[in-house]
Amino acid sequence: MLHPFPAKRMKIIDLRPRLSAVLLLLATAMLALSHAQTKNFRRHKVSFAKPLTVYFIDVEGGQSTLFVTPSHQSLLIDTGWPDNGARDADRIMTVVKQAGLDHIDYLLLTHFHQDHVGGVPNLSHRIRIGAYIDHGPNRETSSDVTEKAWQRYQAVLGRSHANHILAKPGETLPLNGVTTTIVSADGNLLAAPLPGAGQPNPHCQSSPTRPADQTENARSVGIVMQYGQTRLVDLGDLTWDKEMQLMCPTNKLGPMDVYVVSHHGWSQSGSPAFVDGIAPRVAIMDNGEKKGGSPSTWDIIEKSPRLEALWQLHYSDEGGAQHNVAAPYIANLKGAAANQDGNFIRLTAYPDGALDVYNSRTGQSKSYPAPQPKLLKGQ
Ligand SMILES: [Zn+2]
Repeated sequence: MLHPFPAKRMKIIDLRPRLSAVLLLLATAMLALSHAQTKNFRRHKVSFAKPLTVYFIDVEGGQSTLFVTPSHQSLLIDTGWPDNGARDADRIMTVVKQAGLDHIDYLLLTHFHQDHVGGVPNLSHRIRIGAYIDHGPNRETSSDVTEKAWQRYQAVLGRSHANHILAKPGETLPLNGVTTTIVSADGNLLAAPLPGAGQPNPHCQSSPTRPADQTENARSVGIVMQYGQTRLVDLGDLTWDKEMQLMCPTNKLGPMDVYVVSHHGWSQSGSPAFVDGIAPRVAIMDNGEKKGGSPSTWDIIEKSPRLEALWQLHYSDEGGAQHNVAAPYIANLKGAAANQDGNFIRLTAYPDGALDVYNSRTGQSKSYPAPQPKLLKGQ
């Protein structure tokens, strides 16, 4: 009984030289890998920084856009529609969970039309909201639908313990690691250009002037968010006339990397003075199948000088065969059954200007490398 398993013992002894060889190989491989990673990290140092993530939630032609900062603070811009069995609040919650959030730090309501503020009561029952940001009272009291949407929002505010912040152009939102400047609110606009902007805008001549919009759209709260070199703009449903005031004759915003397409891509917004003036690299349109995505607006974006890609939350019926992007760039295809849409687009933005855009329908993403710094003449 001294050696009940002699064969096994023999095997262990046999394995020793092989084991050391394997260990040596492993150690060499790990060393090589760490070397390669260091090299890679050095070469693409900036892109390894924590990203800013933006989710474009499908609320069928309304707006709901969730920004999650590199320090994991959250800003939700708008909440989609009321009703439909709380469809939009549920879709927001799906994305909120995916983003790993258990509360929303700031909920910014661009204006009081029901495709933006309508989801507030349902959402407020599902998640804690730290602070509400808006432009002040409803300015479209002539519309029953809008007045009721505003009243329902006021009721939520009244029973909430959340803070209430009044948005004013020129002020910044208290988000760490990113600079978020209010550029429009309640019909008022940024007085002085953003840092680095303020050049004459040559695209004003190609934008005919339009009469002043009298609805809540023109009151939209608009923001510009900057993370390192990367700049994003979201003006809600701000109208053509206000865009012209903001961009002409002086371009007060300057170039943008990402354009959250105004007003669902409807032709009341998106003037050449604005779109060509900001010259976005990537544009993402929160249109529905039967709302937004006007051909003239689509053309202006597609022809803008620096555009690398336009993405759409939905196929647009108004756009038809000629004015929709290719299927991989659309989150919800034409005629998708109700249980098949609700797909979102996720943008990942790095501080050097590198961008990734992911389509939750296809599971595919596209990368847009950081723009090369412009060389000075003679270099
Ligand atoms: Zn809208």
